[in-house]
Amino acid sequence: MAKIRGDIKVDIEKCKGCELCVVSCPQNALALSDGINKQGYHYAVLIEDVCTGCTNCSLVCPDAVITVYREDRKTGKKKPVAELRNVTGDIKIEVGAEEEEGN
Ligand code: SF4
Ligand code: SF4
Repeated sequence: MAKIRGDIKVDIEKCKGCELCVVSCPQNALALSDGINKQGYHYAVLIEDVCTGCTNCSLVCPDAVITVYREDRKTGKKKPVAELRNVTGDIKIEVGAEEEEGN
């Protein structure tokens, strides 16, 4: 089965260059830019068109500045699937909680 095609958008002026998204990407699709933003940070950029829209980068970004898109196979249009906004406190995310064997 073909991989899902994804894409991301980074709000580069809010990125603090922590690199958490870079190391979280299973596709090695992210890196920090050579240039800097207005805050003086190297910001995250997509360096390879191999994004699968897994959302890892968006979920680990402490500044919630990454929006992840996945391509709709029927229309070919990209729809946002992960976007965290206005995070002001702790957030809890549960992903596919599995039941332990024997329960
Ligand atoms: S959505 Fe997944 S594959 Fe795409 S850039 Fe982020 S971590 Fe990498
Ligand atoms: S995790 Fe967020 S703040 Fe850190 S480098 Fe990536 S986009 Fe920038």
